Amino acid sequence: MNYRHIYHAGNFADCLKHIILSRILQYLQKKDKPFFVLDTHAGIGSYDLTSEEARKTGEWQDGIARLLGKDAHPVPDLIKEIISPYADVIKSLNPEGEYFFYPGSPKLVQMMTREQDRAFFMEKHQEDFKTLAKSLRGDHRMHVRQDDGWLALKATLPPKERRGLVLIDPPFEEPDEYRRMIEAFLAGYKRWSTGTYCLWYPIKARRDVDVAAQMLADAGIENCLRVELVIQKLDTAKRLNGTGLFIINPPFTLHADLKLLLPFLAKTLGQTAQRSTLEWICEPK
Ligand code: SAM
Repeated sequence: MNYRHIYHAGNFADCLKHIILSRILQYLQKKDKPFFVLDTHAGIGSYDLTSEEARKTGEWQDGIARLLGKDAHPVPDLIKEIISPYADVIKSLNPEGEYFFYPGSPKLVQMMTREQDRAFFMEKHQEDFKTLAKSLRGDHRMHVRQDDGWLALKATLPPKERRGLVLIDPPFEEPDEYRRMIEAFLAGYKRWSTGTYCLWYPIKARRDVDVAAQMLADAGIENCLRVELVIQKLDTAKRLNGTGLFIINPPFTLHADLKLLLPFLAKTLGQTAQRSTLEWICEPK
């Protein structure tokens, strides 16, 4: 396990993933009934962008800084509304306006859940687990385990709340991680088919992603969206050219939000390519 998210925190892929995550959490808050969140690969919770690691790659400069930094292009009002739950969390972590802290998924979840809600975070890396546990200590709604995130899909689903979100965000260090992710998702979905699931993936080459999408189509998973943002030409599979998510059972307003948001993100964050995809693998009935 070599992957450390601190090198990538706040990059373009985090922006897309976390905007979507916060929009779904905002939607879940619309009903008073409690909801549950499972984050199978949690990371450390929040990230110091002034740290040596974050400065070494500077990836956040082409992500959050381009999107919301002081020299960013003006954001149209409709887009502002879509990204407001995400932007509000970032603002509250950085009240001075300069970017020092970036919220990982656990921090976003902690800040966007209510007293009645509950979240479960899995982090296998010992140091990262300790950092995460420390950052959430004292919050009785937030549960952290140092264990294999893939196991949690069986152990925690279905949740007693019967509503909520599962984020599956592995590091993609293993060659067969796309297949493994879909298989693990299918095992979870079998136990709980009404939850919202977000499955994050990198786009280096097309083929792996197409195979994963086909697996979802073959399994007949209804109400499944494919969302992608490509910022570099796909002429080498050695770098992160783009990013995507499969979203199963998205809130019904999310498709319309993404239709507006994705072209804006492609224009704002794109480099040698500026492309986005929004398609149903299988439409809701
Ligand atoms: N979800 C986080 C966010 O959005 O802020 C980022 C997570 S990062 C992409 C993936 C994390 O998974 C790393 O912190 C890594 O240590 C952890 N990890 C790797 N293998 C794991 C496993 N089998 N189970 C749980 N965590 C794992």
